[in-house]
Amino acid sequence: MNTVHFTLPSVLPSRPALQDTTTTAKQVESGLARVTTPQDTPIFICAFQDCNRLFPSRDRLMFHRKRDHDSEEDGDIITWNE
Ligand SMILES: [Zn+2]
Repeated sequence: MNTVHFTLPSVLPSRPALQDTTTTAKQVESGLARVTTPQDTPIFICAFQDCNRLFPSRDRLMFHRKRDHDSEEDGDIITWNE
């Protein structure tokens, strides 16, 4: 069985954020999309090069970092919760 593995380049090209003009209010109400907050959806991203894994808490991220990177460095974390 093949495992499909997606990766992102460590540097992504930036572009201006544009207003979403294609999603209708009805689609939003039907649950295809929703507005969330840092309290509802905590996001902590391991920003070590080529990792970019996403975790629901700083503790989970640090556990991953220790196990997978053999590091207790607490920098290079992207989050909107702190
Ligand atoms: Zn990582």
